Amino acid sequence: MNTWENTMNLRKVTHIYKCDDMFLYEIIEDYKAAQSTEEKNEIFSSFCSSVWSCDNKRRTYKKTIHFNVNKDLLDTEPGQIFNTWSCIEYKYYISSTRDKNWRPIIRQNINNIYTRYFDKDVILGKEYMDLIKTPKRLYYEWISGVNMNAASVAGIIENSISQSEKVKLKLQKEKLTLSWNEYKKVVEEFLRRAFENSKLIEEYEDNKNIFTRLDFLTEDHFYVKYINRSLNGEIKKWEKRSCGLPQNSRKGYKHCKLCGIIIERSGNKKMYCDKCALTKERERKRKNAYKYRIAK
Ligand SMILES: [Zn+2]
Repeated sequence: MNTWENTMNLRKVTHIYKCDDMFLYEIIEDYKAAQSTEEKNEIFSSFCSSVWSCDNKRRTYKKTIHFNVNKDLLDTEPGQIFNTWSCIEYKYYISSTRDKNWRPIIRQNINNIYTRYFDKDVILGKEYMDLIKTPKRLYYEWISGVNMNAASVAGIIENSISQSEKVKLKLQKEKLTLSWNEYKKVVEEFLRRAFENSKLIEEYEDNKNIFTRLDFLTEDHFYVKYINRSLNGEIKKWEKRSCGLPQNSRKGYKHCKLCGIIIERSGNKKMYCDKCALTKERERKRKNAYKYRIAK
C-alpha cells in the first residue's frame, strides 16, 4: 500500500459521522441536507448510538412509605399494629434528569416510556398507591384523635394490603411484554420517522402563526421537544397497533377486565377482549349445563 492509499484509508476511518458533541439541530440539519440514503443512514445510526451509549441509563429503585409510631404509643395495641406496617416498600424509578444536553433528555424520555409501558415491577397507579398508603393515612387519623380499636385497625389494613395485591396484578397485566433490546428496535423506528418528518426551524419561521405559538428557548430545545413529543405519540399508536386496534377510535379505549390488553370502548357493557369474552361465554354455558344436569 502506498502512502496515498494509506491516507485515503485513514480519512475513511476518521470521516465517520460522530454526533456526541454536536447540537441536535446540527444533526437534523445534516440529515435533511444529506444527498443519499447512505449518508442519511450514517447520520441516523450515529445519532442512535449516541443515544444508546448515553450514561443516563434506566434506573429503578426501592422506595418506602414510611412513618414513625410515636414512642409513647408503641406499647398500645393499635400502636403495635401500626408499627408492623410502618415501612412499605415499592418500586420507583428515576424519571427526570437535570442535564440540559439533548442526549440525556431524549434518553430519559425513552427510559420513562419503557418503565411506564413495559416494566411490570414499577406499578404506580393511583388505585394501588392509595391502598398501600392506607396504614400511614390511618395512623395519622388515629393520632389526630379518631377513635380506633386494634381489631378494626388490623382488619382495615389487612384488607387494603390484600386488595393492593389484586390491583397490582391487574395493573401488571395492563402492561405489555417487550424486552429492552426489542424495545430499542421499536424506538429506532419511531426516531427514524421523527427525523424523516422533522421540519427545520426556518420552515416554521416562514409561517409566523406557528412560530409564535412555539415556546422554545433555543433551537436545540425546540428539536428535543419535537423528538420527545413524537416518541410519546408513536408509542400510543404502537400499543394500539400491537393490540390490533384502530388508531383513532372515536369511542375511546379501555382495558379488558380479564387479561388487561387495551380494547375499543364500545358501549358500557363490553368488558372483555374477544378472546376473553369467548372464554367467559364458555364458562357460563358450562355452568348452565352443569346446573341443568343437577336439576334433572
Ligand atoms: Zn382479554
